[in-house]
Amino acid sequence: MNDETVKAGLVVLGAGPGGYAAAFRAADMGLAVTLVDLEAHPGGVCLHRGCIPSKALLHVAGLLRETRTAETMGLRFGPPEIDLARLRDWKDAVVNRLTGALGDLRTKRGIAHFRGRGRLTGPRSLDVALVDGGRRTLTFDHAILATGSRPADIPNVTIDSPRVMDSTRALALEEIPARLLIIGGGVIGLELGSVYAALGSRVTVVEATPGLLPGADRDLVRVVARALGERIPEIHLETRVDALEVRGEGLVAHLRDKAGVPRQVDFDRALVAVGRRPNSDALGLEAAGVTTDARGLVTVDGQLRTSQPHIFAIGDLTPGPMLAHKASHQARVAVEAIAGQKSHFEPNAIPAVCYTDPELAWAGLTETAARERNIPCKAVRFPWAASGRAQALERPEGLTKLVVDPASERILGLGLVGRGAGDLIAEGVLAMEMGATVRDLAETIHPHPTLSETLMEAAEVFYGHCAHYYTPKRAGDPKPPIP
Ligand code: NAD
Repeated sequence: MNDETVKAGLVVLGAGPGGYAAAFRAADMGLAVTLVDLEAHPGGVCLHRGCIPSKALLHVAGLLRETRTAETMGLRFGPPEIDLARLRDWKDAVVNRLTGALGDLRTKRGIAHFRGRGRLTGPRSLDVALVDGGRRTLTFDHAILATGSRPADIPNVTIDSPRVMDSTRALALEEIPARLLIIGGGVIGLELGSVYAALGSRVTVVEATPGLLPGADRDLVRVVARALGERIPEIHLETRVDALEVRGEGLVAHLRDKAGVPRQVDFDRALVAVGRRPNSDALGLEAAGVTTDARGLVTVDGQLRTSQPHIFAIGDLTPGPMLAHKASHQARVAVEAIAGQKSHFEPNAIPAVCYTDPELAWAGLTETAARERNIPCKAVRFPWAASGRAQALERPEGLTKLVVDPASERILGLGLVGRGAGDLIAEGVLAMEMGATVRDLAETIHPHPTLSETLMEAAEVFYGHCAHYYTPKRAGDPKPPIP
């Protein structure tokens, strides 16, 4: 049946971690929901082509590295044999298990599903071009736009060659190039650079700014940079790519350093990881009367309502960090607002994690931002070399850091670098959400021996009272929590 009109209560456009979370939540609250997405199963970029496949590959990279470092502990392994086809199948199987399970959860919840590309044709209507032909017009009372983002291009460098990859292509693991150029020393560049380096590529990272991972504190980034420096032989900061040229079987990169000195370097493949941009341009936003800012991000209020109050936008389409967990949290707020509740999106902290080895995680106010904005703060650090568990794991390079308001002793921000930092940060995020003080953290009994103790011990450093890490006393130090 073609050109059928379907009346829907709530339409959710896009089934990534924002869209499927919204649809599932709305169905659980008793709303009639229709989910529209190009894929057969929910999951979006995160599950199909992002967070999950990259974490599977990073796990393999970690295994490879551990077999090498095990020699220190008296264990010697032979060189690994990498079966690329099998590795690819395993990674795809992980993804398919998860997306298939989400498909089942969608069915169990009775959520209607149209597989196709949706475009708003007015404030209350959505045209869906179905993947297998035909169209549907959905009319709705409410809509949630959750179409995410896509990789950005490098300005002035246009090239159409399978040798120049975006993150999707890099995750497909078509081959392990001998020489790989990574343009962009952000999260994607360093995560995927780590994977390819572990699998045998000689990786070169080119980053335009003076440091890797802009946004995180430099003392934490230094630990990652030092570790990556051992696996990624060339990391060039303040360097730009003027042009990429396909020559024979390879690529020639025209690089320019900060002094303006140009040079040409040969590579087999390149990965462009210079950020992402919102998928807002082909949504029919104008027809619906939904406004965007200059960067194409959809303008929303505290409840995620767009300029049309019955249409909501969440996730990478909206201002703020482009992170799956931000999208899922916004999904809850938008659905509750549709259900008439007074929910608002007002997190104290959104954690960011770079899943390299060591991992780097940070949330809330960074020390750098506090200094730039003249916000009074005291930053305290607990080095993992003083942690029994980190030593037993042969991972003493980590660091746990708290950024504290010296007057109220509230935790304003925290950062961790080290093995499993992405998991460890959740405790600090909870502390910030609950308005906890550094004293609360210091007085919470943590299991021993764990890396989680490093949060408690960093809190003790604030009071100059940490058993495993001596800091000389200074006049004006806060009083220790235990009299
Ligand atoms: P990013 O913004 O993290 O990093 C891009 C980097 O490229 C920056 O360091 C930037 O300075 C650099 N750059 C920009 N133009 C350049 C140029 N012409 N030459 C050289 N360097 C250049 O972006 P990303 O790594 O592409 O990731 C995109 C988004 O996806 C981010 O918002 C990120 O948070 C999100 N993401 C998150 C995770 C995670 O949570 N672990 C993983 C992957 C992606």
